Amino acid sequence: MKGPCHLSDEGGVVALCGGVGGAKLALGLQHLLGERLTVIVNVADDFEHLGLHISPDLDTVLYTLGGLSDQQRGWGRSDETWNFMEALKEIGGQTWFSLGDRDMAMHVERTRRRLSGESLTAIAIDIAGRFGIRSNVLPITNDKLSTIVVSTEGELEFQRYFVGRRCEPAVKQIRFRGAESARLTQEVLQALDADDLRLIVLCPSNPYLSIDPILAVPGMTEKLRAARVPVIAISPIIGGQAIKGPTRKIMDELGLEATNREIARHYAGLIDGLIIDTTDAEGAADLGIDVHLAPTLMTGLQSKIALAEHALMFGDSLRTKHKEREKGPLSGGVS
Ligand code: GDP
Repeated sequence: MKGPCHLSDEGGVVALCGGVGGAKLALGLQHLLGERLTVIVNVADDFEHLGLHISPDLDTVLYTLGGLSDQQRGWGRSDETWNFMEALKEIGGQTWFSLGDRDMAMHVERTRRRLSGESLTAIAIDIAGRFGIRSNVLPITNDKLSTIVVSTEGELEFQRYFVGRRCEPAVKQIRFRGAESARLTQEVLQALDADDLRLIVLCPSNPYLSIDPILAVPGMTEKLRAARVPVIAISPIIGGQAIKGPTRKIMDELGLEATNREIARHYAGLIDGLIIDTTDAEGAADLGIDVHLAPTLMTGLQSKIALAEHALMFGDSLRTKHKEREKGPLSGGVS
């Protein structure tokens, strides 16, 4: 889409988000939308470690939107120190999962509050407020949901696969333990049912490890299918490669082509449009879905805001189109 950006300032946006990749877009969206943004976060990477409830994606989103994330390292908090890990190592404790001193405060406090009966949602909302985050940050569920990687080394809990084994075992299948009984929270339902909702965005997170567990919570895919507003995704693949993490490796191991066509196929029936990188324009018209071309590599804040602007403009253009033909068959246009 060309020309100056004319964004309507009405309506809320819901973004489905994993960790680092998703949080980058969420930061751009927060810049444009403030309190009109609700970020619904994956919690299937959560696990118990050293007696603490660790919630990696939720914390990545909280640190990123709160301006506290470490840009160099790419995860965790800035101004971090590692005294706890060093002391733990000295006494022979488990050190395979790194926990910074400041980060520890989050895990200790979350664990204490959960043990005293507070929900993951209530804790996230309170901590977001304390970090000065204007957007709403919500875990998809308060119930236990765990990604299990079925690999060439057997079934691995997600963090054992991701951090412990550095994603080395080949993935054969991915399961979400607890998904059948997990429930969408009231807060998530309210955000999705809001009268002034404008757009639902699937962030460029790992589709298999970050977005699929959100979609696995009963009722979520139905909500997307029945949405009265456009649902769009941003591809995490640029030029056949993932920017970070095991997305490309997992696609290879699952026998899937690392292409935007595959991303469009993966989300077929759930999304109305897909944003792909301008460098991937070739063949965009054949993806069988409305496609919008934009620079999707997010480096500094400006590129995150720019991609967020594209997402809003693309969403608004789809909304206009849908109004014209009442959600008729997808035209497969490229903008
Ligand atoms: P994780 O849970 O921390 O691994 O984070 P996510 O699942 O949210 O994000 C991982 C995905 O983000 C990977 O597939 C990356 O390709 C994708 N990603 C990271 N940075 C960017 C970016 O700047 N642009 C796009 N399009 N994708 C990105």
